[in-house]
Amino acid sequence: MEEKVTLIFGHKNPDTDSICSSLVMEDLEKKLGNINCKAVRTGKINNETKYVFDYLNLKDIEFIEDVEDNQPVILIDHNEASQCVNNISNAKILKVIDHHTMNFKAPYQLYYRAEPVGCTATVLYKLYKENNFEISPQIATLALSAIISDTLLFKSPTCTKEDVDVCNALAKIAGIDVNTYGLEMLKAGTDLSEFTAEELINIDSKEFVEENFKFQIAQVNTACIDDVLKSKDEIESAMNNFMKENGTNLFILLITDIINSNSQAIVLGDTSVFEKAFNKKVENNMAFLEGVVSRKKQVAPVILNVL
Ligand code: MG
Ligand code: MG
Ligand code: MG
Repeated sequence: MEEKVTLIFGHKNPDTDSICSSLVMEDLEKKLGNINCKAVRTGKINNETKYVFDYLNLKDIEFIEDVEDNQPVILIDHNEASQCVNNISNAKILKVIDHHTMNFKAPYQLYYRAEPVGCTATVLYKLYKENNFEISPQIATLALSAIISDTLLFKSPTCTKEDVDVCNALAKIAGIDVNTYGLEMLKAGTDLSEFTAEELINIDSKEFVEENFKFQIAQVNTACIDDVLKSKDEIESAMNNFMKENGTNLFILLITDIINSNSQAIVLGDTSVFEKAFNKKVENNMAFLEGVVSRKKQVAPVILNVL
């Protein structure tokens, strides 16, 4: 009987951590002896990740929409079914490597490793160390790109000392100046010119479900909030369409200024939940969130707290 290949992938609307850490995990998993595995993606590669692929001269990886029954998989950078590919409940999850809140159940044993750090790649680096595996310059570049992305070059409150130390260690292996490379990479991700409003709200979007309340938090990075707000009407109608199609109760789009570390939020739907959570009025469908750059630490838990 032919052994099924183990698929390694991150969350839908993949960010740089989801893509790059999947590739790092493929390398690690092969070193651990599971030769028959491959990193795949569950959505379009964003411009920031594309910068990394171009830098390394990497070819695109395969896209999957769902998984077959009993498909062996490794989940990277997520654990919630709502953020995963279709049919995940019938797959065979071998491992989860993550750094998010746990909302996960499986009726069988598996390897689950999650740590309260800023990036999945930081956890993966520790696994290389624990196993005494060498890290190649290419793998180091992928991993440090993920850390720079998730921590917004160490400026996000999700960033820990471990993330900084690991990133600097990886930079030595890769021969990369973290600040120069990191700024270029983040800037590549702020080029939103070619996106339609529908695409823009899906670049980095996550669904959360608590009891019967379904909320969506999308995020785009920019160097200029006003530039993005030029398409506010189109963005709002795209958000409204999304909510209708998906039965979403509340939709928050974070337009995050990566230079000044603030976010302008566009809030549609049950705005009273948002207002209660942030003790702030939503005016003209907007609220400015001073110092807020992290969905994971500064937005999602604040909403969950009032539900
Ligand atoms: Mg992610
Ligand atoms: Mg991550
Ligand atoms: Mg992110």
